[in-house]
Amino acid sequence: MPFRYDPGDLGVKEVEIGITHCGICHSDLHLISNDWGMSQYPFIPGHEIIGIISAVGSEVRSLKIGQRVGLGWQSNSCGECEWCTRGLENLCAFSEMTCVHRHGGYATKVRANARFVVKIPDALPSEQAAPLLCGGITVYNPMRDHGINPSSRVGIVGIGGLGHLAIQFARVFGADVTAFSTSAAKEDEARALGAHNFVNTRESKAMKEVAGSLDFILTTANADQEWGVYIQSLRPTGTLCFVGVPPSPVSLHAFPLIAGVRSVTGSPIGSPQRIREMLDVAARHTVKATTESFAMAKANDAIEKVKKNKVRYRAVLAN
Ligand code: NAP
Ligand code: ZN
Repeated sequence: MPFRYDPGDLGVKEVEIGITHCGICHSDLHLISNDWGMSQYPFIPGHEIIGIISAVGSEVRSLKIGQRVGLGWQSNSCGECEWCTRGLENLCAFSEMTCVHRHGGYATKVRANARFVVKIPDALPSEQAAPLLCGGITVYNPMRDHGINPSSRVGIVGIGGLGHLAIQFARVFGADVTAFSTSAAKEDEARALGAHNFVNTRESKAMKEVAGSLDFILTTANADQEWGVYIQSLRPTGTLCFVGVPPSPVSLHAFPLIAGVRSVTGSPIGSPQRIREMLDVAARHTVKATTESFAMAKANDAIEKVKKNKVRYRAVLAN
């Protein structure tokens, strides 16, 4: 039985979106099973939303009814702190998430503060654009922050929803790209997406061969790994950046960090301005999610397929 709720009056700074598409990000699965201890039930997941504006609050000037827009993980922020005023709203301590403590996008409608709702370039079809709103920005933002460029050698760990977009963006930045995957069957597709090299991480010999070769490794895997091996894959001054959330604490020897001035960092989504930039780059450089379409009513089937790592590469629900 579908769950119904009354969202009350529309806030003066809010817009309401009639949802056409919503991607299934692995964070939805983490929230469904309360892996992060922050879920409240009944719970409506979904934060890779594309739709048409159906209502606007009285103070909203930037958006109009009928426009095609997107909404990602973040739905509001304080708007006044150092981070919001610097255009780094994704770092605001009073951030509100689209499907944490409020109902998300596996639905017919959703609401958010207008500052977090972005127009979608005409060149991007809705189904392929939806995964960009969380998966796309999450991998684009750290590559921009870390200055990835044609001289960079970039590794992408985990070729799923985030990873397959990361390969494409790393190529757009001109980098030499190495895909790290537990799925040997993904090699051809990873290369077709733009990877120059493919490492099967289940083979320790293949992992040893890339030792000392990469400047920046972006890990999107949602599972524990031998992180020390990835540190060994970095060149001096290289960075291992976490966007995927492994269940256990990350344990590392200090010596390879010290000896090679290597660093470990993480990155959360991106600001609304970066989301706009990323969408523009995706439109101009034809970065596209590879999607599998499911009817919204089949969300549970789609989630099961994501859980089994069987989706190539992003499941998208459509109303
Ligand atoms: P996904 O589509 O399910 O892809 C995850 C990939 O991780 C899989 O395709 C698989 O790639 C790899 N993987 C799965 N099980 C593994 C295992 N046992 N060992 C090694 N690798 C394994 O998930 P996603 O939507 O891309 O999300 C990935 C992670 O990013 C999740 O933890 C999610 O919560 C997080 N996330 C973070 C942010 C942020 O702001 N930082 C935003 C969005 C998502 P291979 O088959 O190639 O090994
Ligand atoms: Zn997400």
